[in-house]
Amino acid sequence: MLCHSIYLHIPFCRHRCNYCDFNTYAGIEDLIPRYVEALCREVELVASSLDERLPVHTVFFGGGTPSLLPAEELERTLQSIDRSFNLAPDLELTLEANPGTLSPAYLRQLRVLGINRLSLGMQSADPSELALLERQHDFNDVRQAVDWSRQAGIENINLDLIFGLPYQNLSRWDQSLTLACGLQPAHFSIYSLTLEHGTPLKDWIDRGLLDQPDSDLAAEMYEWTVERLDLAGYEQYEISNWMRQDRRGEARQCRHNLQYWRNQPYLGFGAGAHGFAGGSRTVNVLAPAAYIRRMTNKQACAFPRTPATAQISRIDEATEMAETMFMGLRLTREGISRKAFHQRFKRLPQDVFVTEIEELLALGLLEIAGDDGDILRLTPQGRLLGNQVFIRFV
Ligand code: SF4
Repeated sequence: MLCHSIYLHIPFCRHRCNYCDFNTYAGIEDLIPRYVEALCREVELVASSLDERLPVHTVFFGGGTPSLLPAEELERTLQSIDRSFNLAPDLELTLEANPGTLSPAYLRQLRVLGINRLSLGMQSADPSELALLERQHDFNDVRQAVDWSRQAGIENINLDLIFGLPYQNLSRWDQSLTLACGLQPAHFSIYSLTLEHGTPLKDWIDRGLLDQPDSDLAAEMYEWTVERLDLAGYEQYEISNWMRQDRRGEARQCRHNLQYWRNQPYLGFGAGAHGFAGGSRTVNVLAPAAYIRRMTNKQACAFPRTPATAQISRIDEATEMAETMFMGLRLTREGISRKAFHQRFKRLPQDVFVTEIEELLALGLLEIAGDDGDILRLTPQGRLLGNQVFIRFV
């Protein structure tokens, strides 16, 4: 049976940052105990709708700010997962956290619970940029969080950073990168700021209260990031993700996100969580209170549906092939293995997407790689213009 991943959405934040459009809320932390109860019920209901226990190799607490959950609530959730699925001995167990919400004692508790990967929302080291984004921490909090995690025995640490901010220049971005590299995390996720509709930041920029970020400068920052991280010994493996090997030479890719990029199945639990399992994509109801209400209904549902499911769509083979292409092409080294694609769909990508692949090869955005020419992947130019590539497969 295919190994699955589990995503658990924790929709609580101390403060709603002005650029964020995630499904998260400030000031409703009193819902946490009931929310966790609902989460456990959803986990157990999905498992009980199957004849066998699904094998699971990654679990990811994302948000929101999962580090706002007391250790006892995380423990309850993990016990429920452990009772319901066959967890791999080398399970990757990630928790997203905001620097400034952590303490040495809490991190030690996380380690005891089996959390072996921490993803920290650093975003920038520059105080004015952090203030612009309304982040509630400074670089010292990040440094402390990294030290405390290591002391607690959690060495697999990711730092999230954002570039392309209003008023940011290359030298300030380089300073943030340099300080971040100095902490030697195992992994970086680095994204360009997206101005999402409905966010205060986009509204202020639209009204001329803040300068529009410079998109050419953001492209330069991305190119600089690629060079800078390469110099610092990090290997880029996805358009926005870098990793370095640990002391034993083990690659520290995010195995959970690889599951998405390889278009492999995952279960999404919690308010607004997305899932892809049993040949269907699911989306849960967004509001935490509605989620809790729905999950008081213990009625059994056909896998992967639960009472919290707000949308479910069957994925036909043509859609699955297209999704496999545009997600897999994000993997800058691995790309799409033509043999693996054939094994999965009994057809070769170049026979299914004849025009798209021919055109992208001719434009120099795709290349054929690997000793036996098995790999289709983006060229460096294609990485810069990724959206122009992906759109052809949508
Ligand atoms: S802490 Fe993260 S999830 Fe929460 S509001 Fe800020 S950016 Fe969004």
